[in-house]
Amino acid sequence: MSLLAKWTGYKNRLAGWFVDREFFMRANGQVRFVKISAVLQRRVAVVAASVVGVWLVITFGMMINQVTVSAERMALNAEQERVETDQERISKYRDSVDKVAGELETRQKMVEEAVKQFGGDVPPATEAGSAAATAKKIGAALPEAARLAAVEARQVALAEHLTRIALSRSQKAAAAIREFGLDPKSLTTEAQSAMGGPFIPFFGKKEKPVRDPRFTKMFAALEQMEVMERALAGIPTSMPASVMLMSSGFGYRSDPFTGAGAMHSGLDFKGPIGTEILAAADGVVTFAGWQGGYGNCIEITHANGLVTRYAHLSGIDITLGQGVRRGLQIGRMGSTGRSTGSHLHFEVRMNGQAINPLKFLEANPDVLEIQAVAGNRTAGRTTGAK
Ligand SMILES: [Zn+2]
Repeated sequence: MSLLAKWTGYKNRLAGWFVDREFFMRANGQVRFVKISAVLQRRVAVVAASVVGVWLVITFGMMINQVTVSAERMALNAEQERVETDQERISKYRDSVDKVAGELETRQKMVEEAVKQFGGDVPPATEAGSAAATAKKIGAALPEAARLAAVEARQVALAEHLTRIALSRSQKAAAAIREFGLDPKSLTTEAQSAMGGPFIPFFGKKEKPVRDPRFTKMFAALEQMEVMERALAGIPTSMPASVMLMSSGFGYRSDPFTGAGAMHSGLDFKGPIGTEILAAADGVVTFAGWQGGYGNCIEITHANGLVTRYAHLSGIDITLGQGVRRGLQIGRMGSTGRSTGSHLHFEVRMNGQAINPLKFLEANPDVLEIQAVAGNRTAGRTTGAK
């Protein structure tokens, strides 16, 4: 059927909905005749459709708004100050070359700090950008400042370059988090609060931040990258024991003690007593000791707020408050608490609710590689370990 014929079909069907309708209404012994014309019906339908349409637009707008909140925050940062015009910059140089040199020195420290955030691994910048043009103008107006202006141009180009890399890395990390079926935004809220304030010393009182939006933007991008990568690194994807056998899956099963149906809130790994128990992700030990039916139990809280729990242990090899890296031996397998034999009961909790750990342990290698890179970069800062 052609598109036109289809459309005509729809139109006819729609028109069929709106025909003059007549009703007989009986009230107080009298019969009244009410007629609702097709035109009136159509008008009412149009009004109703518009209301729904407006509601949809608003809802959708709010959804998009949520996604762009961080982007907006960065734009806000950028708008606090604007880039000085060439003329303003030239007069700054004219006022005091020394003062400008001091300012550039502070900026240099900031950029070096930023490079450190990337683990020193920064691909070279290729574009010269508008900063180079400004430098040329300064050099023409004040030949004695030409070299300093050239240094400034390189600095700005590097800051813009770092900003771009940071943004693309945090996007990559966010995509990886989504691959695990998790929401980057809610995970990073945790990571952000766990960070406990700005992590870059130049936002502090000691050094006056340089008032140039290109530098504030760079730090906003770096902070976003840090938070996103921490959240990704804290997803428990490492096997908690090197025994592969899972004797019991997540979900409903018959209770080994009572035989009745019960929710099994984790995965069970069977193995000999003393088998090494390993941290499933970077984090901090938030519980280590006896916990009722769990027996000897360890809890690790990860930067994204997820908590992993390791139960029925025969031994505990870490202490409360200790920062751990993924793969570190934290304890030994046992059968303490409510247990029918030597095994590890492994749980992952999000906002206090047990979730199925399997989707993390069975992640595809591509995502795991992105996670490993993020973990190496944020290592130490995530675990509090020095
Ligand atoms: Zn279990």
